[in-house]
Amino acid sequence: MHDVVIVGAGPVGGALALALADADLDVVAVDARAAGGTLRGDRSLALSHGARLIFERLAVWPRLAAVAGAVTPIMEIDISQAGGFGVTRLVAEEQGLPALGYVVSYRALQAAIDDVLMRTGINVRFGVTAASVAGSSADVAVALGGDAGTLRARLAVVADGTGTAVTGIARHQRDYGQVALIARVGMQSPHRGVAFERFTPEGPLALLPEGDHYGLVWTMTPAKAESMLAASDDAFLAALAHHFGARVSGFARVADRRTFPLRLEFARPTVAPRSVVIGNAAQTLHPIAGQGFNLGLRDAHELGQAIIRAPRDALGGDPMLTAFAARRRPDRYASIAFTHGLARIFATDAPLVRWPRGLALTLLDAVPPMKKAFTRAMLFGIS
Ligand SMILES: Cc1cc2nc3c(=O)[nH]c(=O)nc-3n(C[C@H](O)[C@H](O)[C@H](O)COP(=O)(O)OP(=O)(O)OC[C@H]3O[C@@H](n4cnc5c(N)ncnc54)[C@H](O)[C@@H]3O)c2cc1C
Repeated sequence: MHDVVIVGAGPVGGALALALADADLDVVAVDARAAGGTLRGDRSLALSHGARLIFERLAVWPRLAAVAGAVTPIMEIDISQAGGFGVTRLVAEEQGLPALGYVVSYRALQAAIDDVLMRTGINVRFGVTAASVAGSSADVAVALGGDAGTLRARLAVVADGTGTAVTGIARHQRDYGQVALIARVGMQSPHRGVAFERFTPEGPLALLPEGDHYGLVWTMTPAKAESMLAASDDAFLAALAHHFGARVSGFARVADRRTFPLRLEFARPTVAPRSVVIGNAAQTLHPIAGQGFNLGLRDAHELGQAIIRAPRDALGGDPMLTAFAARRRPDRYASIAFTHGLARIFATDAPLVRWPRGLALTLLDAVPPMKKAFTRAMLFGIS
């Protein structure tokens, strides 16, 4: 019997496996993707300063930073709304930090994690899919697809991005009825590490500086997204310029337009007998504040510590899992509520909301302690 089986060695499951590398434990991870591959297309991830610190400890950060263009520091974030007053600008220097956050490519991050996993000799079985995870008081059985058999362990950690394979964990869903259109946008002049978040009557837009371009995340209705996907490059760039008004100019090129549906999904509870879900398997958030992955990484970090601290005969038992779930609850629910609240406030453009939103942005900019608290929440998490 293994001590720990990790289902999914994506960015969250991989980070947990690395956190357990030096522990005196029998750990095995399985991942459906082929070695060296990624399951889906690339995407820009906004990593918080706290996430960087975790990846530094896991020796992933130096490898990632060594890849040309893989990490782009965010030096400033400019937040504004169309057709209303109120602007705030968060500046790294004012917070005494080297950067407010970092934009990294999902693929480059996964490659760096895989590289460190290989060097540390952790047992990762690629091309192996977990079909079901079912625990009892004695152990947990992870049934593998094909003829790969069943793994038995004291604890199964499910970080497969969905959590659907686990028995005994319910998932709650809320569809926002909107989609995010993502694209790469080239500019006439360098971005200098400035990110933009703009609230418009049709939904929020974000521009994340990444390498030599911006990663665009534009929230809109599915019908509008269809027309924006079909629009010519010139028409698309003109619409973008219109939404940003005087705040941003010089849009030159657009490429790789894609959409994905926006929904809130979370597991409750996150633990079942000898099983726990973390990362996107525990919660899938609206991307409005770039919190999802950072929260998932904190799940992995804290679970790693709880596993290392637990005596072997307590590993995976109810008391350990209940204590872990309780410790994660404040961060989890605060992040879910913060993201869901922002998504609701900023998706609507009723005048009644526009005014307090402008006031909030103005106050945020004018009152240093509020600005510091907000920046801290974005950097390290909400709780
Ligand atoms: C377009 C987009 C933009 C985003 N932007 C941001 C952002 O700016 N900031 C942010 O913090 N978050 C962002 N997110 C969310 C972020 O992508 C996720 O939080 C992150 O990918 C979650 O990592 P994970 O390891 O939990 O899951 P995943 O990345 O989904 O990885 C799951 C892993 O499990 C494996 N797997 C799946 N099923 C099985 C199975 N049955 N058996 C074995 N292995 C399996 C997969 O191969 C994969 O390697 C964004 C998401 C999207 C869609």
